[in-house]
Amino acid sequence: MSETPALSVRLFDLGHGVNCLDTELQRPGLASCYLLVDEGEAAFIDCGTANSLPLLLTALRRKGLDSDAVRYVIPTHVHLDHAGGAGALMAACSQASLLVHPRGARHMIDPGKLQQGAEAVYGEERFAALFGQLQAVPEQRVVSAGDGQRFSLGRRELETIDTPGHARHHFCIHDPASNGIFTGDTFGASYPELNCGRARFIFPPTTPIQFDPEAWFESLDKLMALAPQRMYLTHFGMQEEPEPLAALLRQFIEEYADLARERAGQEQRQAALESALMQHSINYLLDQQCGCSPDQIRDVLAMDMALNAQGLDHWLSTQTP
Ligand SMILES: [Zn+2]
Repeated sequence: MSETPALSVRLFDLGHGVNCLDTELQRPGLASCYLLVDEGEAAFIDCGTANSLPLLLTALRRKGLDSDAVRYVIPTHVHLDHAGGAGALMAACSQASLLVHPRGARHMIDPGKLQQGAEAVYGEERFAALFGQLQAVPEQRVVSAGDGQRFSLGRRELETIDTPGHARHHFCIHDPASNGIFTGDTFGASYPELNCGRARFIFPPTTPIQFDPEAWFESLDKLMALAPQRMYLTHFGMQEEPEPLAALLRQFIEEYADLARERAGQEQRQAALESALMQHSINYLLDQQCGCSPDQIRDVLAMDMALNAQGLDHWLSTQTP
């Protein structure tokens, strides 16, 4: 292994061979990926952006592994905070296959459209700063995995679960060995700095352009039917006792959709949605005595609520009146 200068990584050992790594997108505690290790074999579930690659390789070394130990790179869906680094990571891990949802596979082989789509959401300049350079994955290394595909890593067996709702190209990974599920964005986002109140806070990322509340409810039913003890969220970290969070997530998806429908005919709809969503979060968090001021809450959630408003605005435009 070649000598590289020590890089500080936020790597959390969660037991059962599951490690959560902060991919350092924008701020600590915003986005993660998971390094799963079993019998000397490794898999990354989600992989951050192209800028995260040095962190991922450092995390591997911390676990005493080199890049040849990586059997699978598994983006839960092809949004760039999850899959933007897939090409670079695959180039660094010569023994790995890329496991991806059938609807996402072609975007990993030719990321041009993905880049265009993301530039439309974030703007070109912001895109470059956030996500770096996308790299194509050679087609012969891409395995397209539909619902219920099983694969083994060391002694454990993992399974894909098709979970549309946040995006149609989204699957989750069930891991019976930890009685956990790697949920990408399907089980919402829950930030550590907002989880200090009486109840935890979780919200559905309704990122453009495939928000589908009905599909999302069904996906949550599917996940909870497996009776998981813990969920591994990309945003951010492990959540145990998932039942109350699932209930809150269902409630918020319902309320977001209502809040959007009520503003369907409004002028400057997206801006109106953005402030309504932010107020919705602030009201909940203050009620739960989370210990943060409204300004602190705004700081943490500003980007998410802007994206959520954009996604709901697009969703409204697809609904027949
Ligand atoms: Zn996403």
